[in-house]
Amino acid sequence: MLILCSNDDGYLASGLHTLVAAARTFAEVCVVAPDREQSATSHALTMHTPLRAHRIDGGTFAVTGTPTDCIALALGALLDRRPDFVLSGVNHGPNMGEDVLYSGTVAAAMEATILGVPAVAVSYAGEDPAGIGEYGAMLQDLLPQLVGQRNFPRETLLNVNLPPIPPAEAKGVLITRLARRVYVDSLTRATDPRGRPYYWIGGGGVEWTAPEGTDFHAVERGYISVTPLHLDLTNHALLADVERWNLHL
Ligand code: MN
Repeated sequence: MLILCSNDDGYLASGLHTLVAAARTFAEVCVVAPDREQSATSHALTMHTPLRAHRIDGGTFAVTGTPTDCIALALGALLDRRPDFVLSGVNHGPNMGEDVLYSGTVAAAMEATILGVPAVAVSYAGEDPAGIGEYGAMLQDLLPQLVGQRNFPRETLLNVNLPPIPPAEAKGVLITRLARRVYVDSLTRATDPRGRPYYWIGGGGVEWTAPEGTDFHAVERGYISVTPLHLDLTNHALLADVERWNLHL
């Protein structure tokens, strides 16, 4: 089995190294990852500048682009054969609720899914990435259970979040849906030294609406959260309602 690993924190990130080490215990592994941090780049594709891939060693490439670029280049050009699976992460920080829409980690898994390769995104929901390394042994047990599924769903990726506690204290695995997250005062306006206004996105507070059964609820209580994410964003339940609006020319 060949597994392609990628991330959005860059090829030097410790979370990626933990993921690669765990995957190497049960599969052949290659790595195609951004050459620098590309967090919150979502599903961006680089289309207006050339991309370059630098071979770091036999099976590792650092790409001058986004996580989505990495998957596209890996499958289209860099790898000798098609990988059986894509693993993205382990992201330095959580990817729950609406954050999956901004996440480069999730986007890499999503791009693989679009291109027909089953994929899992893994994120660590703690502030300090030093805690990720402790999850190496647990990932060696958990990842083969996901990668080994004979009926891995089509057009669906799995989004895994690890709680920010020592893995020995984790209570188990819960299958979840996305919580709702609202950023509060996340836009900062200030004045630069030349007297001009500037703006900074992020840094405010976060409020969660996270009932039982959601990813945030599970991780808050010390569980590993696994959320199946479908590529189809259609609100199927609303199709008939919007039909009744009788939109016309
Ligand atoms: Mn990241």
